Amino acid sequence: MPHLGIAHVCDKLELDAARTRMPGPVGVVMTMGALHQGHATLLRAAKARCDSVIATIFVNPLQFGPSEDFRRYPRALETDVALCADEGVDVVFVPSAAGMYPQGDASVGVDPGPLGNVLEGASRPGHFRGVLTAVAKLLHLTRPDVAFFGEKDYQQLTLIRQLVADLNFDVEIVGVPIVREPDGLALSSRNRYLSAAERAAALALSSSVYAGVARAVAGPGEVLTAAAAEFDRLQEGCEAVLHRDYLALTDPALGTAPSSGAARLLIAAHVGNTRLIDNIALTLG
Ligand code: AMP
Repeated sequence: MPHLGIAHVCDKLELDAARTRMPGPVGVVMTMGALHQGHATLLRAAKARCDSVIATIFVNPLQFGPSEDFRRYPRALETDVALCADEGVDVVFVPSAAGMYPQGDASVGVDPGPLGNVLEGASRPGHFRGVLTAVAKLLHLTRPDVAFFGEKDYQQLTLIRQLVADLNFDVEIVGVPIVREPDGLALSSRNRYLSAAERAAALALSSSVYAGVARAVAGPGEVLTAAAAEFDRLQEGCEAVLHRDYLALTDPALGTAPSSGAARLLIAAHVGNTRLIDNIALTLG
């Protein structure tokens, strides 16, 4: 069913035509669809700051590894467009993979540099090259004044800030805090994969970072020990398969953790066949 007041466009020509009619400042929120209240919060932040808002929906094949969930990634275009319309989005851009990558995988891409090889990048080789290549293209296509990204994907946000600084993109990047379920679980499109037992086990991620934050005054060693102990405790008691990928304490730029001051605690874990991530800001010492 068409939604009034929102343009749903799929190629550059249609997007350009819609874009010329949009009063500025223009904000963009890039997503892979299967939208939830985390995405809605980004759209609201864009709406509050900008006169026009573009949402993009693109399940980017370039950022999935060969054994990852590209094929089964949830797709819900109709309800996504309805959510965008409800949030007052002006244009939803839904490009095809062929439209984005006419040359396929062999196209020119964005090198994320050393930060692309740690944490998520170590577990997901090529992931950030895929992310930054798609983000660069979508920034060129949508030409926003401001682009909004969630802190949920903290390494992605950090790399996107680096992308626009290093390659002189004329856009402001705004980070939006993580939206969580009442029990702490960070909202994610991948939460749809979880069985009841896995949903319970998934709380190990947020519980661990909260346990780390609770020891922030004591210093970096104590933060990591407390977070790891909480994960292990929940792992022992849970019915689902739960396996930690990494638990890391860094500075806010994802470098070495300081002994005191601002820091970030990041975690990734497999819950059954689903890989989830979480992170939190903390002040050490
Ligand atoms: P995705 O569709 O998962 O690629 O996410 C699109 C954007 O929404 C990214 O900038 C994410 O960081 C952001 N996002 C996803 N989940 C959340 C959440 N729970 N809280 C805040 N932002 C989120």
